[in-house]
Amino acid sequence: MRSRNYDELFIGGRWQAPSTKRRLSVISPHTEESIGETPEASPEDVDRAVTAARKAFDDGPWPRMSVDGRMEKIEKLTAIYTAETDAMADLITAEMGSPKSFSRLGQGTGAVAQMHLNLATAKNFPWVERRPGLFGDVHVRRAPVGVVGAIVPWNVPQFLIMPKLIPALIAGCTVVVKPAPETPLDALWLAEMLDEIDLPDGVVSIIPGGRETGEALVRHPGVDKISFTGSSATGRHIASLCGEQLKRVSLELGGKSAAIILDDADIDHTVNHLKMASLMNNGQACVAQTRILVSERRHDEVVDALAAMMSGLQVGDPADDATDIGPLVAQRQQHRVMGYIEAGVDEGARIVLGGTDKPHDRGWYVQPTLFADATNEMRIAREEIFGPVLTVLKYSDERDAVRIANDSEYGLGGSVWTADVAHGLNIAEQVRTGTFGINMYTLDTTAPFGGFKQSGIGREFGSEGLSEYVELQSTISAGKLPDL
Ligand code: NAD
Repeated sequence: MRSRNYDELFIGGRWQAPSTKRRLSVISPHTEESIGETPEASPEDVDRAVTAARKAFDDGPWPRMSVDGRMEKIEKLTAIYTAETDAMADLITAEMGSPKSFSRLGQGTGAVAQMHLNLATAKNFPWVERRPGLFGDVHVRRAPVGVVGAIVPWNVPQFLIMPKLIPALIAGCTVVVKPAPETPLDALWLAEMLDEIDLPDGVVSIIPGGRETGEALVRHPGVDKISFTGSSATGRHIASLCGEQLKRVSLELGGKSAAIILDDADIDHTVNHLKMASLMNNGQACVAQTRILVSERRHDEVVDALAAMMSGLQVGDPADDATDIGPLVAQRQQHRVMGYIEAGVDEGARIVLGGTDKPHDRGWYVQPTLFADATNEMRIAREEIFGPVLTVLKYSDERDAVRIANDSEYGLGGSVWTADVAHGLNIAEQVRTGTFGINMYTLDTTAPFGGFKQSGIGREFGSEGLSEYVELQSTISAGKLPDL
């Protein structure tokens, strides 16, 4: 991977010198060596980006252009991105350690699919409609929400930028994207692609930085809406700041999803699928099925099957095609995950496989780790670990399984594994999560995605995802409205 260095920020659709000399250095989690640098955007840079976005929204052509005109620009961007999907995915693998196969699926094909799906959704979206009202027809219009601040984490960066940037642009919003400091390189490469499609001045800015940069964006009075993906702790703080200004906010937050294995489940099929559903992206996935719920009757069989699957995982260089588990994003994440493994042991759970020994001398690796004899009160069962660590919990009967699944502050994903799909659907209806899988768990980017409880507010993907970037305006008239 060639090193990438940027000296400028993408502010208001132009490459501009940053206001400070502060730099972000991207360190490979595999080699622990630098693979590139970008400027770090300061609050002053945030102000420049928001001011440009505000002017573009209030006075510029973008929100006033036809939806078709905006979609043409997104179609051009899609073509440019499509030509680079593998290279973009591989860059992200180098930045944050996601296995190449997973990156190519999510950041490559998955990101492009989202662009196409958004374009298809926008074609059939009711931008304006007429409804019979009390005083004649009501003209209902979906207007762009305004200047959008989009804040994303590092774990699947392009896959997370797309469901904010693309629908917001199609709706006619102007957008300031704040990528995470761990993954600024792919974001500025996207800025290069945006530069090629000649958007009007001010429509998009991409300004990498950390907490200070993000918070300046959230607090800026020129921003109409914050769309945030990240931890529940940060989301809670951001929501309170937005509340002070009555700023619109949508939040995609953490999870601690339960996989309920019923007694009639096919264990080989289940464990085979949990390999991805529970351990995707080195366990650094908001939807990871990390609490494995099983009855006494099939407990030992499930633990043995999980241990066999996990001991066969290839842990190593994420750029290698055969790698299942790469390094974690940063040394602090490696320490955090090891801290959870220690907490599991201290609280009395049993390590079946793995532990805190480092699998490699170099790189921020953690061994795939399986806990049994745990309870749902332990920290390993309640908190989001964000690493390759699974916890098996015993339930007494199905009601107890549903109770344990719901006994969580999170409500993002979940799954049930059973020979009876109709019964699985019945279980799905009892679990308080935004998405659910029967004998599988993966994301379907055509369907609304988001969290119940502390896992978020709002939805991404599909028409619901596009609706997050519009305000409804109802117009009534004393005279007959012109035909649509
Ligand atoms: P984080 O909350 O620490 O950071 C997320 C982003 O917010 C980063 O860009 C960060 O720089 C920025 N940020 C931090 N403090 C801020 C503040 N005070 N104001 C504004 N911005 C601020 O999250 P993380 O640990 O980097 O990411 C992992 C988390 O993201 C996990 O909890 C995971 O479950 C969640 N996540 C959720 C989804 C989803 O769709 N629900 C998807 C991916 C990740």
